[in-house]
Parts: sequence; structure tokens; C-alpha cells
Amino acid sequence: MIDTHAHLSRLDIYGHVDELIGEARSEGLLGIINVTMSLEETANALNLVNRYRGFVYTALGYDYCGFDVREIREIMRVINENKELIVGIGEVGLDYSRVRDPMLREISRHIFTKWILLARDLDLPLIIHSRNAEDDVIELLSRYGPVRCVMHAFSGNKRQVMRLLELGCYFSIPPTITRSRQKRDLATMIPLNRLLLESDTPELGPSPSEPSRPAHIKLVLVELSRILNRDFRDLGSMVTENALSLFQLR
Ligand SMILES: [Zn+2]
Repeated sequence: MIDTHAHLSRLDIYGHVDELIGEARSEGLLGIINVTMSLEETANALNLVNRYRGFVYTALGYDYCGFDVREIREIMRVINENKELIVGIGEVGLDYSRVRDPMLREISRHIFTKWILLARDLDLPLIIHSRNAEDDVIELLSRYGPVRCVMHAFSGNKRQVMRLLELGCYFSIPPTITRSRQKRDLATMIPLNRLLLESDTPELGPSPSEPSRPAHIKLVLVELSRILNRDFRDLGSMVTENALSLFQLR
């Protein structure tokens, strides 16, 4: 199993990251993909990659509710300079539940477009957050793609899922699948060769009171094998294979 989305370099998590990584290893995980949302996280992220070579990988991204053009430019520079060390771009995206002003939404679409173009230029997968903005995400991906991409913890409808599958997207399923009907329904719509596991550490844990940890992807796999009626091990090797090939981890 590979956790394809964890915020290990986030400042509130980084202090006890060794414990989380140790637990993930002893639970049989083969790797973790860290994602970032700010410039101050990027040094921690690259540090983790060096410290846990072959186990922790990183994507670099920027807050989908942020508008600091200088910070974005600087993160893009770090990505370009370290493209051999990173496996993706993200998380990035559009969040209309938090960005409500039409002008700011327009700017966030402009920023997201720049991320799509960078991912395409560098041939890196894009890890996408979308909340109440699915049609615009689809529009921009079809206009500026093709790009390899993952929709993380997707909450859109079936029509949008089908369109994103046509565009080549993967979907990563978080631990909330153990308590969310929407995530269970989502999982049944995704072909097995497009499914991924994610913890979204420390968000989206298996219960609202428990922060998510990378080891929780085991619960996701248990739940997926139950609802898809597939053997735990077979499904585990399929979704692991998906992560290895999408992020080119070998
Ligand atoms: Zn996230």
C-alpha cells in the first residue's frame, strides 16, 4: 500500500513525523507521498525525501485559497530546481466553498491554470483539490491538458466523475470512506486501474475526533475490498501498482 496524499511537512505535523513514518512502515506501507501547500513547508518536504529515501516522496504545491504571487513564483522556482527530487505537483486546485468572491475565484482559476501548465511542461502528475468547483476544474483540465492527475477526496457528482475519467484522472480515496456514503458511492464508480489510497494526514480521519495518519490507508483498503467485493491482497497490489506507475516511483 502507498499513501498518495499526506501532509507530513505541515508545521504542526512535522514535529512527530518520525513516529508516523515508523508506524506506517510497521503496518506494511511501501511509501508515502507528502503534499505541501506553502513555501515554508518545502524545505521540510525535501528534507523528508532525503531522510527517508525510497519511502517518503514529495509533491510540491500551494494553498488553493492563497493569492501570494511572489510565494507562488518562488515555489515554482523550487519545483523547477528540484524536479528530479519530486514526484508531483500539489496539492493545488479550486475551492469555491472558501473562495466566494467572483473576482478572487477568477484569480484562483488563473493560478490553477499556471499549475496545470507547469505539470504539463515538467510531465509531473497534478494532485487536485476541488470543492464546489468541479465543472471549472474539468473545463481548465480539458482546455490546458492533457496532464496526468489525481482528484483527491473527490466530492463531485457522477457526471463529473465520468468526465474526469475520460480526461485520464485517478481518484484517491480517504479514510472518511468508513463513515461517508458519498465516498463509498464514489469508489464504486471508479475503474480499479484508476483507484488510489490516501490518508490526507491529519485531515479526513476515520472518525471526526481522530486525526488521520498514513497507517489509516489500511482501513481504506479494507473498506474498498468489502464494498467492491475484491480480495484485500489483490486489491492492495492493484492500487499499489496504480500509485507506482502514476508517480513513476521506480
Ligand atoms: Zn490534502
